[in-house]
Amino acid sequence: MNRKMAFEYIKISGYHGNSDWVRIYSENRISRARADEAYRVGQKAKINGQKCNCWECKEALSNKEQKWKHTSTPLKKGAQTA
Ligand SMILES: [Zn+2]
Repeated sequence: MNRKMAFEYIKISGYHGNSDWVRIYSENRISRARADEAYRVGQKAKINGQKCNCWECKEALSNKEQKWKHTSTPLKKGAQTA
């Protein structure tokens, strides 16, 4: 993981409010100030109502959308087969 990615991951950790950043911070030898900064950026994004970019949130969102589409689509007449 390069430092830019590490920064992004810490941002996600800040967004989620979990402690994943500790592992990323120690594994990637980035400065504590930089880690704190990334964490705060993530927290701020959540406060501002921005969407999270991690795959977990994206997947949760797309599942929600699919569900919504599914439930809001009226059943086609004659779709049910014997
Ligand atoms: Zn997320």
